[in-house]
Amino acid sequence: MTDLMSKIISLCKRRGFIFQSSEIYGGFGSCYDFGPLGVEMKNNIKKAWWDEMTKNQNPPAGGIVGLDAAILMSPKVWEASGHLTAGFADELVECKECHKRFRLDELKMKKCPECGGQLTEPRKFNLMMKTHIGPVEDDAAFTYLRAETCQGIYVNFENILNTMRLKIPFGVAQIGKAFRNEITPGDFIYRTREFEQMEMQWFCHPKDAEKYFDYWQKERLNWYINLGIKKENLRIKEVPVKERPHYAKQALDLEYKFPFGWKEIEGIHNRGDWDLSNHSKYSGKDLKYEGYYPYIIETSGGADRSFLAFLCDAYQEILGGRTKTTKAVKEIEILLKLDKKIAPIKIAILPLVRNKPELVKKAKEVYQLLKPHFTCQYDELGSIGRRYRRVDEIGCPWAITIDFETLKDDTVTLRYRDTMKQERVKIKELIKIIKEKLNTQ
Ligand code: ATP
Repeated sequence: MTDLMSKIISLCKRRGFIFQSSEIYGGFGSCYDFGPLGVEMKNNIKKAWWDEMTKNQNPPAGGIVGLDAAILMSPKVWEASGHLTAGFADELVECKECHKRFRLDELKMKKCPECGGQLTEPRKFNLMMKTHIGPVEDDAAFTYLRAETCQGIYVNFENILNTMRLKIPFGVAQIGKAFRNEITPGDFIYRTREFEQMEMQWFCHPKDAEKYFDYWQKERLNWYINLGIKKENLRIKEVPVKERPHYAKQALDLEYKFPFGWKEIEGIHNRGDWDLSNHSKYSGKDLKYEGYYPYIIETSGGADRSFLAFLCDAYQEILGGRTKTTKAVKEIEILLKLDKKIAPIKIAILPLVRNKPELVKKAKEVYQLLKPHFTCQYDELGSIGRRYRRVDEIGCPWAITIDFETLKDDTVTLRYRDTMKQERVKIKELIKIIKEKLNTQ
């Protein structure tokens, strides 16, 4: 674990972004719960993605509609998709000494990286999680937790095409949980066994597949950049043929430079006619469109992995603090420079001091005024400097301070997180001003 990752994990716990699952029972391996700030931030990421796909996108032709399919599906879906065969299995080796298990493709040496012991021969390990349906635990009633959300889209291809009266090309966007029995979960929320995907499947004519493959990779890269991730921390890596998923004709990984190395945050794949032709074969339903199987270009991102990338990219430490006041000289200030759209709390409302009832009353009125419009936090504990630092640490873009002048002229101080600039603003104009700021790039 890098030093920076330990600091980010500690911030997540301390400020209510992410908790270990079932912590009071000693924790449950590689499962995490998103706390009050975490759920706001994750919802913001998902909303930004959803709006991007269903509202803001202007592909050369066609549009994008949404879907929310069930997690549990007929097990036949997973036969057709290739997930039950070798296509979705990692090669696993086990240490004969300490019995730890590793993915063969992740090993840099031929002995156990933990204890140096000898390893077993590799064997295939299927990543699908099996579950029972109904009251009797027999094989007649089992299925799997979905390992990717996109299969729900493919099996609804005809439903969507017909009910929405669409023409090729068009896309279907979906956000939802997926489950994989990963052999080596780790790096905090980077690789877990339960995670959330944000996937868009673009159905097009085979002759246009390469064109759209190029189009979507550019669009997806820009989405991260527009939400504040530094360009130099993103790259696109072509996946060599032998490492491609079983369904992919072309594959790219969009990678982020995490403290633990360059790692995939989103996959962009040309799935060809793999899915629709296999579902036709297994279901007996002809899923051709005007006599051909449309090709599918997918953009498959992870809400959790991008959450971690947004956090890592925004995290800054300032030794001695930005204000350089004597008290802060030896302290490290944390500044989370999250994009305003992603930030979990948009506005902090702070009475200058808490032992003046008139100020507290006025601050609570401002809080009530803003709360229906923005995610706000009211905080009256500690010195105002300390409270500013607390809001900087959670990435809150704006703080509003209610002081003695407020009582005279109904104005407040609006403080900007990144510049620490302060300006005087009329209370009755606050909603308009913040809405404008939120909606500009
Ligand atoms: P990896 O090579 O890291 O196992 P993958 O290539 O199998 O990932 P895809 O099947 O392309 O991943 O899944 C698309 C996206 O879903 C990934 O880019 C990632 O954001 C997310 N994802 C996949 N597996 C996990 C996981 N175990 N934990 C968190 N997110 C995941």
